[in-house]
Amino acid sequence: MKTLLKPLALAVLMMAQVGCSDKSDDTAHPTITVYSERVEHLIKPLFDEYTANTGIPIRFITDSAGPLITRLENEGEATPADMLITVDAGNLWQAAEKGVLRSIESPILEANVPAHLQAGNNQWFGLSARARTIVYSTERVKPEELSTYEALGDEKWKGRLCLRTSKKVYNQSLVATMINTLGVETTENIVKSWVANLATEPYSNDTVALEAVIAGQCDIAIVNTYYFGRMQVENPNIPLAVFWPNQNDRGVHVNISGAGITKHAKHPAEAQKLLEWLSTEQAQYKFAEANQEYPVNPKTKPSPLVQAWGEFKADLVNVEAAGHLQTEAVKLMDRAGYR
Ligand code: FE
Repeated sequence: MKTLLKPLALAVLMMAQVGCSDKSDDTAHPTITVYSERVEHLIKPLFDEYTANTGIPIRFITDSAGPLITRLENEGEATPADMLITVDAGNLWQAAEKGVLRSIESPILEANVPAHLQAGNNQWFGLSARARTIVYSTERVKPEELSTYEALGDEKWKGRLCLRTSKKVYNQSLVATMINTLGVETTENIVKSWVANLATEPYSNDTVALEAVIAGQCDIAIVNTYYFGRMQVENPNIPLAVFWPNQNDRGVHVNISGAGITKHAKHPAEAQKLLEWLSTEQAQYKFAEANQEYPVNPKTKPSPLVQAWGEFKADLVNVEAAGHLQTEAVKLMDRAGYR
């Protein structure tokens, strides 16, 4: 009996699997599945709008990039995920390296996403840009005293600088792009000079670093501008301001939040259409505004709050450098004593 049941159970299981991927059923109700590092309140309103426009439901889970990429690797061909959204180009690069994304041909994405904010192999595309820059105390610092990231290592900032931990991919990407442009030796000396000027041990996140500047523990910090934006939304009068460094040379470090279509997507065409829609002028405003970030589509203006920080020259180095120089950056920060 047992031996008879086994093949039968297997046959039923196989039928169920075939039923799952039945084409007619699938095309009538294609549900796009997204794995997202970008948190729910930043993506759900856009997904809801897309579903309202197209009738295509979108299902998603959110987690950090590491677990999501591991999950895609483990699930392999069986993954239900069609799209992966992460923050930081370093994470997208890792996903591409691990073979969980696919290259896509899209004239729409090529037109809407600047070349330096997408992968050369078209496996991922930036959807919002995030400037990692200097924020200073308006009570204790004059903007004329500031100039470049490098100059934060000057003697005059001794005991006045706050940084976030080097474990955070944002700082690894910042340092990786500096290595790309300035070389290892110069970058290492800069990072050492920052460490020498630290007011305290590096913080766990950008918001705590900004709070430390407000509290007077330090006078300047390097943060992503949207953390400052969130604080400004809560309190428009916080005694902090944004400074745009390196305007006479390489420009401000810019990273992305972006997405790719998974290698084993069950609905690659539908997922690509969603990705293309997210890059359009109209969707871009909402995508960026939800978190006070910068749209990647040059036709879309940032929110009024973000525009008030003024225009700046951005570093046009391809954000892929954040990926292939990430290991080098981690080692360099370790050597420099940046914890
Ligand atoms: Fe963040």
